[in-house]
Amino acid sequence: MPLRPSIHLLRAHAKRVRRGHPWAYSNEIRMNAETKSLTPGCVVRVIDAGGEALGCATFNPHSLIAARMLSSDPDQAIDRDFFARRIEAAAALRDRLYDAPFYRLVHAEADGLPGLVIDRFGDVFVCQVNTAGMDALATVLLDALGAVFAPRAVVLRADSAVRALEGLDRRVEVASGALDGAVELREGALRFLADPVEGQKTGWYFDQSENRAFVARLAPGGRMLDLYSYAGGFAICAAAAGAREVVAVDRSEAALALGERAAALNGVRCGFVRADAFTEMQRLAGAGETFEVVAADPPSFVKSRKEVKPGLRGYRKLARLAAALVAPGGYLFIASCSYNVAAEAFGEAVYRGMTDAGRSGRVLRAAGAAPDHPRHPTLPESDYLKSLVIQLD
Ligand code: SAH
Repeated sequence: MPLRPSIHLLRAHAKRVRRGHPWAYSNEIRMNAETKSLTPGCVVRVIDAGGEALGCATFNPHSLIAARMLSSDPDQAIDRDFFARRIEAAAALRDRLYDAPFYRLVHAEADGLPGLVIDRFGDVFVCQVNTAGMDALATVLLDALGAVFAPRAVVLRADSAVRALEGLDRRVEVASGALDGAVELREGALRFLADPVEGQKTGWYFDQSENRAFVARLAPGGRMLDLYSYAGGFAICAAAAGAREVVAVDRSEAALALGERAAALNGVRCGFVRADAFTEMQRLAGAGETFEVVAADPPSFVKSRKEVKPGLRGYRKLARLAAALVAPGGYLFIASCSYNVAAEAFGEAVYRGMTDAGRSGRVLRAAGAAPDHPRHPTLPESDYLKSLVIQLD
């Protein structure tokens, strides 16, 4: 094997990587002509200013996060076996935590595979390939998945917005096997439907599984409103737990159609309403409607740091409108999946929103993503999901 190329960290910039941080930024790397001309996504040896090799990484000279560490061994072969071992370790962790094979199997850096997310729907695997490095290794990854699981189908979702930062195109393909529309998954005793090709992200929001189960515990006997319901996750959990009436609101026709089918699969009744959430909340408030449980799990309001302030105003408004629909003594679940918004700032915005609505209350639970979404210890950015459950007086 020809010796792989090397990149050199600038003096004083090696400490973080040496301590286990998985990234080196482009301004921490000696960017000479040779380094700049490396093929985006290639595997490189990472060398510190003193000439010591710190490991190997994928490298993209055009990305701000230029190097993403793969191994502390600079000459580690990045081949099918490498991927298979990392995937097996990730699967062993999930199989300890979950009693059925429906979960996020790989969560990027935290599972030693930067730029890669894999969601598992039994024998169907959906891979999000988000960096030039993973894009270049996609064939090896598919080989490894084939060797470890013998999948019925593997979907490659190369369509996330972050790919633009890496200079990559966007595409979705069934890379192996065949799929015919939605796949079924189980969460606890319930059955849901996800569309791995046409659905949002990978087709399912596994990150909210524990929050759905918690909110369901509050639902028996009451009316429940699931805002931004997608394919009915919170709604169906609440209905199955014994909510008296459940209404799910989303603007996506396709998501609501899957929700309707999933409700039928579980033998529960939910109303599915296609509407803009803010408009629908105002309409419901005008009609004097209240609910014992309101869940609001919107898409990210903050896509970049510039948007933090308006985004926080958005969360405050969402909290105000949603709190106004909660019956006295009822519960509000509200979430943010914006990684640029810190938990404290989100909590403050929600608190202001509920007081704007003239409501007081108490926080029962503050929680992030389920444990199939582990976080690399040095990457607080990957703690993107925050949520609160508040009982309102
Ligand atoms: N709660 C869901 C996940 C929600 S993802 C679950 O547990 O699976 C966010 C959802 O918000 C998406 O389904 C998207 O279609 C929907 N959405 C985005 N903007 C919206 C809007 N303005 N009004 C209503 N729904 C919206």
